[in-house]
Amino acid sequence: MISVEEALARLLAPLEALPPEQVSVAEGIGRVLAEDVAARRTQPPFAVSAMDGYAVRADDLGDIPVTLRIVAEIPAGAGFGGTIRPGEAARIFTGAPLPDGADTIVIQEDTERDGGRVEVREGASRGRYVRRAGLDFAEGDVLLRAGRRLTPRDIGLAAAMNRPWLFVHRRPRVAILSTGDEIVMPGDPIGRHQIVSSNALGLAAFVTACGAVPVLVGNAPDDPDALRRIAAAARGVDLFVTTGGVSVGDHDLVRAVLSEDGLAIDFWEIAMRPGKPLMVGRYRGTPMLGLPGNPVSTLVCSLLFLKPAIDRLSGLPDAADGLATARLGAAVKQNDRRQDYLRARLVRAADGALEAVPFEVQDSSMMRPLAASDCLVMRPPHAPALPAGSAVPIIPFPGGALPL
Ligand code: AMP
Ligand code: MG
Repeated sequence: MISVEEALARLLAPLEALPPEQVSVAEGIGRVLAEDVAARRTQPPFAVSAMDGYAVRADDLGDIPVTLRIVAEIPAGAGFGGTIRPGEAARIFTGAPLPDGADTIVIQEDTERDGGRVEVREGASRGRYVRRAGLDFAEGDVLLRAGRRLTPRDIGLAAAMNRPWLFVHRRPRVAILSTGDEIVMPGDPIGRHQIVSSNALGLAAFVTACGAVPVLVGNAPDDPDALRRIAAAARGVDLFVTTGGVSVGDHDLVRAVLSEDGLAIDFWEIAMRPGKPLMVGRYRGTPMLGLPGNPVSTLVCSLLFLKPAIDRLSGLPDAADGLATARLGAAVKQNDRRQDYLRARLVRAADGALEAVPFEVQDSSMMRPLAASDCLVMRPPHAPALPAGSAVPIIPFPGGALPL
């Protein structure tokens, strides 16, 4: 058995970001940038008024009230070829270019118009309500960097930078194959001794939530021919994931059968719980992750291994080392040699601190507590018993369908 750290390092070592593809800027939402993006236009491109009012020379506002002669009207999108001279003003609207000679905007609310003249009743400091050229950014500024997962704010920024398209990494396609004679997809006819499959659809959702594309290739019964046939459907994907059939039982065929059919196993068995019988290798050249069959093991291993693998293929930088911590809301027992991941709720204690409360029963078949969990409490190998109140490392389940 190898450690979780070593297993992750060996899984990720051969994986590289997928090649870029060009998409319309709005389709970049949730995708990972494959290029540094530089602005193609300065914003604002010229000094503009931030308000509806009058463009004036601050030097004319020494003695308030003052009456100025209106020599131009400048709506947004238009320009004024002339120059504002002493004693003059231009009627101006939000977003309109500041005319030459003027350096300040007096807001409409502080004026009284009288035909071709305007009385300014409140002073304004020089430059007030003027947005200078390049206030936001200048042409050539690199504002979005390769490796960033794009938010709606980034899409707005890229659009403002005059980029109607972007290069993003291709989304990883992840084939999902479940195994087991007893497994039946939800809603399908089911025998008395069969169970409903949670892994395939749970995994598909997980893959989608990671920004990748799931390809469900089917459920293989515990039969060598069927397994070979269905596994062969996983060609052309970027990552091949199986569930079940990878442990030590007589009906766990994945390793033995696929090894004779193009699977090169890198390693199998990890010192962790849940998820010990995890296998990593290459099946006909495609990186493969053999996940355990127990649904909780499948999804915990997905968080620990599948997500980092998808992130790497997606072009994201590696996650920073170091786990968050929380205070234990209940005592925990001494741990054995396997790194343990306890399903736990996160609650706010009376003093405002975040407390992790592990579920009492930690059976790797139980989906209900897994779904109700907010985090995993990580217990390193041989960790001592800890009383409630101790600080422990946690892995929160990330929330949010897309980064906002
Ligand atoms: P296995 O590793 O194939 O022995 O499976 C371990 C346990 O997980 C068994 O109790 C299986 O019935 C169960 N299991 C395997 N695959 C699935 C699945 N797709 N959905 C739900 N449970 C499963
Ligand atoms: Mg099985």
